[in-house]
Amino acid sequence: MSLLAKPRPQQRSDELRERALRRIPGGVNSNVRLTAPGIFFARGRGAWLWDVDGNDYVDYLLGQGPNFLGHAHPEVNAAIAHACERGMVYGAQHALEVEAAERLCAVLGWPEMVRIGLSGTEMVQAALRLVRATTGRRRFVRFEGHYHGWLDNVLLATVDGRSGPASAGQVADYLDDGLVLPWNDAEVLAALLAERGDEIAAVIMEPMMLNAGAIPPRAGYLERVRELCDAYGVVLVFDEVICGFRLALGGASEAFGVTPDLAVYGKAMAGGWPVAALAGRADLMDRFGTGEVSHAGTFNGSVMAAAAVVATLDVLTREPPYDRVEAHGSALISGLRELAAAHDLPLRIQGRPVAFHASFGDPGPVSDYRELQARDAGRYAQLARTLARHGVWVAGRGVWYVSAAHGQDELTAVLDRVESALTRERP
Ligand code: PMP
Repeated sequence: MSLLAKPRPQQRSDELRERALRRIPGGVNSNVRLTAPGIFFARGRGAWLWDVDGNDYVDYLLGQGPNFLGHAHPEVNAAIAHACERGMVYGAQHALEVEAAERLCAVLGWPEMVRIGLSGTEMVQAALRLVRATTGRRRFVRFEGHYHGWLDNVLLATVDGRSGPASAGQVADYLDDGLVLPWNDAEVLAALLAERGDEIAAVIMEPMMLNAGAIPPRAGYLERVRELCDAYGVVLVFDEVICGFRLALGGASEAFGVTPDLAVYGKAMAGGWPVAALAGRADLMDRFGTGEVSHAGTFNGSVMAAAAVVATLDVLTREPPYDRVEAHGSALISGLRELAAAHDLPLRIQGRPVAFHASFGDPGPVSDYRELQARDAGRYAQLARTLARHGVWVAGRGVWYVSAAHGQDELTAVLDRVESALTRERP
């Protein structure tokens, strides 16, 4: 019997969606979710999610990345619960936040100091303020297809090589501080710095482009960017909100061998708890400490956030999951490629086993944002919806994240379900 003839039940999700639409604009609390299937979840454990109608899903979205240890990791949950029995926010210091900062610096290896905040968006802003204060320069260089949060000075839409505001109500002038270049081309950066280096405070980038596609840096690119930043007195900022603790325990600097001056972390660093960090060289970071540069937040460094960071780093250092994740991701990529070929679908996969991207288009890798835009994003978004109906939860934009909780059972389940989706619905 076809699954279409007997669809998975969705009545409770539909009822909740109706209620949500009345009280929450678009029924969602982040616009990124506006285009997701209207499924409401009841719980998650390990690499699995269950919706309110009782359907299960193998999860390769991981909440957009945070659940690198899987959902509801018992050790992280216990640490948070135990810690917050003693109170949650003091408006003052506590021992666990010192431990979290020490552990972050030790695990990452290169930073000397760290500030802990709530979201990647706000820690990017802290970084940009800090680099302006340090250099006395106003502008920064950023790249097509890279995402640095939803605020006015960084939210960008690039269409046909032209960049501009991505939202109504956005103060478009604020974008003028960011000079937008194509990524993965060191010579365009060299040319811009030669002309305007003395205006530029920072270069900010995702060291592997993961917000659009999954595009690794070309050989030698990050090294050359590092050299150029040094030559022009420009601060190099890695936005590692996705890469951090995922590409390697030490993040992009370990994975690619190039060290930034500042880096923003989030997502995988706390097992799902909402927390982010700005880490970097002491001579830069200490400007917050003297009070010269302001950075604040009622909930920064809360007891729960600090507990979640320490517990997550404990797990990641005691049982590094990177080899297992790589093996799972590699087997999954091979399996998906075989299924696509068997069903005659031009599905292209690239990236790293821990975070890869699937799209429809010509063979051959995508090496920048413009090439990615030539891919058939609409067709892939349809496939993602089809997969959801068959119990595979993935992002509509093509990225697949593998967690430490994905094992052989999940591999068997996901490949069976993809096969069933491709056979029964012919996307
Ligand atoms: N930078 C990057 C590279 C990101 O991927 C994201 C979120 N996807 C952000 C910044 C913003 O982080 P947040 O959603 O925690 O504000």
